[in-house]
Amino acid sequence: MTVAALPASFDPITCGHVDIISRAARLFERLMVGVYAVPKKNLLFPLSERVDMVRESVADIPGVQVMPYEGLTVDFCREVGANVLVRGLRAVSDFETEFQLATLNRQMSPNLETLCMFASNDYSFLSSSIIKEIAENGGDVSSLVPAPVERRLRERYPNRPAPLATGG
Ligand code: ADP
Repeated sequence: MTVAALPASFDPITCGHVDIISRAARLFERLMVGVYAVPKKNLLFPLSERVDMVRESVADIPGVQVMPYEGLTVDFCREVGANVLVRGLRAVSDFETEFQLATLNRQMSPNLETLCMFASNDYSFLSSSIIKEIAENGGDVSSLVPAPVERRLRERYPNRPAPLATGG
């Protein structure tokens, strides 16, 4: 059985992630989605909520399993029996990071193959951080994130900020 892993912070999961997950799920018998517990960034959502949002967002995609992980991604892959590591590539700007990660991961785990999939046109500009910024400022993200994420963002940011007073 070919098992693949797809690790990310998912703070929060976006339609771009869901798109990559559903396309990758068609290629493998099982796709293990790993939610990275402690990324070195300022998180908006705690781990349990990030995991819940991913689970709710991919519930209809066959062959997908979601679980939290900490530590090295190569260790997560080993634990879940994955021999392929799937990553998404949005723009040229993603390439360098992904190349670095793939090279280091290959050194640590020579039998783990990294597979990069190009983002779909509709989502190639989309990142979790831009979603948080739009939501924080009262913008509409309903076409960019799954419904369970939009609901939680609304709870986090219930009030649209007042427009800045212009001078005069
Ligand atoms: P992290 O930065 O913690 O790895 P991200 O959620 O930012 O987590 O990204 C994880 C993976 O998902 C990366 O491979 C990234 O390129 C991919 N990804 C993120 N957003 C998109 C998107 N809109 N379309 C396709 N892939 C994406």
